[in-house]
Amino acid sequence: MLETDVIVVGAGPAGSMSAIQLRNYGLTVLVLEEHSTIGKPLHCSGLVTPRTLESAGLDHSLVLNEIKGAEIFVGDVKPLVLGNEVTRALVIDRVAFDKYLANQAVLNGAQLNLGHRVTHIENTPSGTTVVHANQKTFSSRILFGCDGWRSKVSSHLGNTKKDLIWCYGGEGVVPNHPKDTVRVYLDAEIAPNWFGWTIPIDNKRIRIGIGTTFGSPERKPIHLFNKLLKQYPTHFEGLNITSLSGGFIPLYTPQVIESRNSLLIGDAASHAKPTSGGGIYTALEGAKTAAKTAYQALSSTQAGSIQLNSYHSAWSKTLGKELVRGSELRKVFMDLQSNNQLPTVINTLSIKPLKKMVHNYGDIDYPSALVNPILRAASAMIGPALQLSKMSRASLPLKRFVSQLASQK
Ligand SMILES: Cc1cc2nc3c(=O)[nH]c(=O)nc-3n(C[C@H](O)[C@H](O)[C@H](O)COP(=O)(O)OP(=O)(O)OC[C@H]3O[C@@H](n4cnc5c(N)ncnc54)[C@H](O)[C@@H]3O)c2cc1C
Repeated sequence: MLETDVIVVGAGPAGSMSAIQLRNYGLTVLVLEEHSTIGKPLHCSGLVTPRTLESAGLDHSLVLNEIKGAEIFVGDVKPLVLGNEVTRALVIDRVAFDKYLANQAVLNGAQLNLGHRVTHIENTPSGTTVVHANQKTFSSRILFGCDGWRSKVSSHLGNTKKDLIWCYGGEGVVPNHPKDTVRVYLDAEIAPNWFGWTIPIDNKRIRIGIGTTFGSPERKPIHLFNKLLKQYPTHFEGLNITSLSGGFIPLYTPQVIESRNSLLIGDAASHAKPTSGGGIYTALEGAKTAAKTAYQALSSTQAGSIQLNSYHSAWSKTLGKELVRGSELRKVFMDLQSNNQLPTVINTLSIKPLKKMVHNYGDIDYPSALVNPILRAASAMIGPALQLSKMSRASLPLKRFVSQLASQK
């Protein structure tokens, strides 16, 4: 059996970027992908920041639309309208994006085996890993788990806990959606513990979706999706849905992401952002950190004594830190949503100076950058408006949030 330096399981953004980087370091790489076509089936809205394209090394050729603003709806209050002339996000052709990255990996010298579903993983006494796929066995010194939210490699590392957002949505044609603005729906009845969204692809086409956590049968995303359409009839008048599917987003939860000779990257590591569910940027950046760790480990040690334990600490110093903060913000959001406090927050954020702050500091990849300035400025306005009596059952993060507001007055 021929041994490779690194076997990468999965050819999504995490896997292909890992392969590109590992090849740049001169390592031998085999990518095993279960599907016969890269990028399909598609479960993504394809909304990314301009820095994500930079991180992927891509120009604007796969950009379908530029997003400059957002309209945020909840209950009967006036929507919060954000945005100016600055492009905040890009709508990309996600299938073409994945294909581009996989192609780059192959051009860089990685071997890509399509139609190879990894079914079994073994660690040998000599320290190598043996992977079974398509009734064949492959062996490597290091294993990269880039195999998405249902990761086999993650299970092999002993992870069991996930914070999954269950999504349902697709694409459609609608006559009157603003072309450069996304719409976000925060109503607890429509999207408990998450939100609904529409993203314009061009003048007519939109991507539309809803997400929630697991709950009662009536909380199935398909029912919530229909509720969204009913609750905002003017937004969806004349909507012609052209495709629909479900999907899962593994929001950041602390996991074992490294072992003696394996690393987890992207969704396999539960690295989707807890505030937006975006996981492409974190997958690309995680791949870069992981590839560097693997290269350093292989060049500084003898076979059988590989040291991969700098991955977690390197990741924690960069985007990992942001994911932890995002996770706290998500808890606050869920408390505000379940306590029906979001209309108050939306009203408060509509005030001009606060809106300006959102424009200045708002960043989908680094949402925590906005929190401190907003907390400082909003404390006097938002603190008294939140009805503390309704929050008797509110969990710790919300209480911390409110007391933070109070202490900053
Ligand atoms: C409805 C929805 C909308 C989303 N919208 C956005 C968005 O707008 N912006 C954004 O940034 N993110 C979005 N995301 C999240 C984003 O899609 C993921 O975070 C991203 O795809 C993670 O990349 P990855 O490479 O880690 O995993 P994936 O893209 O899931 O790739 C994993 C790959 O591994 C393969 N694989 C799995 N198991 C095996 C196996 N056993 N053997 C071999 N191969 C295997 C799969 O076939 C797949 O190709 C969305 C997710 C959903 C569900």
